Amino acid sequence: MALQGSDKGFSGTSLLLASQDVPPVLEKTPNGASPFLLTCDHYGRLIPHQLGDLGLPESELTRHIAWDIGIAGVAESLSKQLDAHLVAQRYSRLVIDCNRPPEAASSIPRISEATVIAGNEGLGSDAARIRRQQIFDPYHQRIREVIDARVKRSLPTVLVSLHSFTPVYAGIARPWHIGTLYHRDMHLPPLLLKLLRAEADLVVGDNEPYAVSDDTDYTIPVHGEARGLMNTGIEIRQDLIGDQAGEVSWADRLARIFGEIEISLRARQLI
Ligand SMILES: [Zn+2]
Repeated sequence: MALQGSDKGFSGTSLLLASQDVPPVLEKTPNGASPFLLTCDHYGRLIPHQLGDLGLPESELTRHIAWDIGIAGVAESLSKQLDAHLVAQRYSRLVIDCNRPPEAASSIPRISEATVIAGNEGLGSDAARIRRQQIFDPYHQRIREVIDARVKRSLPTVLVSLHSFTPVYAGIARPWHIGTLYHRDMHLPPLLLKLLRAEADLVVGDNEPYAVSDDTDYTIPVHGEARGLMNTGIEIRQDLIGDQAGEVSWADRLARIFGEIEISLRARQLI
């Protein structure tokens, strides 16, 4: 598509998403009755047409460095089963990582794992700002608006940030099937851990394979902790949700567990 109107004359940098590109934010079950608000920072692996393939072969653009494999199907099914609002982001984290502070070096990675991202090398500050303005900001603004609207209506909100992780990272195998990720919330993560550990077939990570921190995360610190919402991150190992059967089975399991969590939080008058 040709650049339009006032977008001409900026070497294309003022226009990232064009008419053939979908909006970054995808929502499911927006009027859901559940107290759980689901977010999915690494839902998709789209690349705006203007950025081509970021200099990468398809084999790189389909693996975990580009997105959280399998989590889209889990998130959509969980949203439906829990009747919970899901806010997800469709563009690849190689374009801009929606769970990194924009000022962090890893926000627009030059290297991910051992792969050099050619399309991100030598990126100017204007081009970086436009990625933020057109992908990162609308996604986080939408989460902010959703929470604002829920607060205004006095609806309880528990933030659940959904991710998946690669079974092997930099040559190291990871034993966990699922992990909880948290920092400051002392209510939800222990409850979730207890219920996950009661599932006899699971190896459960407690802040594994990652922990939440202000330097390496954005969604939980900004939308959960800073707003005083109960929150947790969830990481599911990608090979367990690599096909539809896996996605459905994990969504079913999490729907059952979050149903129990809701009952417990209500009984304790935490929501
Ligand atoms: Zn993720």
